[in-house]
Amino acid sequence: MSKTYYPVIGLEIHAELNTASKMFCGCRNDPDETNPNVNICPICMAHPGTLPVANKQAVQSVIKVGLALGSDIADFTEFDRKNYFYPDIPKGYQISQYKFPIVSGGTLNGFGITRIHLEEDTGLSKHDRGNFTLVDYNRAGVPLMELVTEPVIHSAKDAADFAKELQLLLRTLGVSEANLEKGEMRVEPNISVSDEEGKFGTKVEVKNLNSFRSVERAIEHELARMIALHEAGRQDEIVQETRGWDEVKQSTFSQRSKENAHDYRYFPDPDLPKMKLHSAFDIEGMKKALPELPWQKRERYGKDFGIKENDIELYVSDPILSAYFESVVEGKGAVFAQTASNYLSSDLVGLLKKDLEAELPSQEHFRQLMDMVMSGKVTSRGAKDILAVIVKNQEVGPSAIAEKEGLLQQNNEDDLKPIVAQVIADNGAMITQYKEGKEAVLQALVGMVMKQTKGSANPAVTAKLLKEMM
Ligand code: ADP
Ligand code: ZN
Ligand code: MG
Repeated sequence: MSKTYYPVIGLEIHAELNTASKMFCGCRNDPDETNPNVNICPICMAHPGTLPVANKQAVQSVIKVGLALGSDIADFTEFDRKNYFYPDIPKGYQISQYKFPIVSGGTLNGFGITRIHLEEDTGLSKHDRGNFTLVDYNRAGVPLMELVTEPVIHSAKDAADFAKELQLLLRTLGVSEANLEKGEMRVEPNISVSDEEGKFGTKVEVKNLNSFRSVERAIEHELARMIALHEAGRQDEIVQETRGWDEVKQSTFSQRSKENAHDYRYFPDPDLPKMKLHSAFDIEGMKKALPELPWQKRERYGKDFGIKENDIELYVSDPILSAYFESVVEGKGAVFAQTASNYLSSDLVGLLKKDLEAELPSQEHFRQLMDMVMSGKVTSRGAKDILAVIVKNQEVGPSAIAEKEGLLQQNNEDDLKPIVAQVIADNGAMITQYKEGKEAVLQALVGMVMKQTKGSANPAVTAKLLKEMM
């Protein structure tokens, strides 16, 4: 009989900060630079005699993230050297933080955060060009924050959701583009399984995950592998190691055994001054200046507008759409907001190709159109047609289009009567069916009248006339 197993997951997440220059030199920090080794200088190339200077904006970015997460911002902090040899790390050590990270504590999605520290990124090795390796140092020295969670996550989905929420936060704060596909954000889950609650099993760390989907899949795969070993009585074969993720095979594989902190011979970097953050920065002022955070926005949108959860997520993840939505519904009630959000999230977003800002119709036009829907001047069918026109044509307003295209809803019974009479005359068989009790026929007849009027007939008025006239 199979036992109960307790999965434990802790995340280590790196994110490149989008500062103008690198962490310890004046080189441009440009992740889109495609020419190799152009954004380099003697400092990030580790020439003898050069001295690093810390990037203030990078320190500020990490403090902002910490403030958003309700963490403690250290007063005293310093940089340490993490020593190891690899061609992508020209100094032979990485400048990182060990004992005194900038940020400690705090939570995200209810999961405890251990620390967030600041370090420098490595160069990028390219092994795919033949029988040799090329190294591009444009990325060497780019500011990198590392967030470490407590081992308190218990499912693959919660781990992926945590990473998604962090991405959203970093984008909301404007400190990182945090694109996983581009390597701007790297999620490394530590995973273990125990057959006894509260006891930790041996953990492995998984690397090379470049989508949230892979994060979730890799954790699921790794948990299944560990549980299978337990079930077979071979749990001793679970060793502390770093594993890679094979996207094609959708499975993890052993890469190297895990090094311990003491292997790195950490020590404070003597070339960089220690920092007193609470004197160097106006921490309270920074806290007050934080933008509205994703979870705050979710709550406000739910409370003020009562719109669907999916719609809320759309606005929380897209600042252009949320600014647009808010200006359209400003001063209107919740019912208007819900109607506008329905059209915006399904119909309008569906019509936009890529450049939201350029393609969105003017707020005023969209607002007018929603007023017409609310007051019954256009049907929802008509509104969709008008929407397609105002997306392409920013000049002409919705009422002019409705008039020109005959899309104004016809509520006038005298205008509709002749069309209804014609539909009744043309569909004798259906009328008989209706009279014999087949009520569903009515909808089909309303549909015919709608078609005759290019969707402009008011369906309720049409149904009433049909009943009377049959
Ligand atoms: P290491 O010294 O091996 O780097 P840390 O204690 O620094 O380990 O933790 C690294 C990450 O691994 C953290 O996110 C932590 O929450 C997580 N972690 C620690 N122990 C376990 C465990 N037994 N199972 C899963 N994750 C763990
Ligand atoms: Zn440089
Ligand atoms: Mg560690």
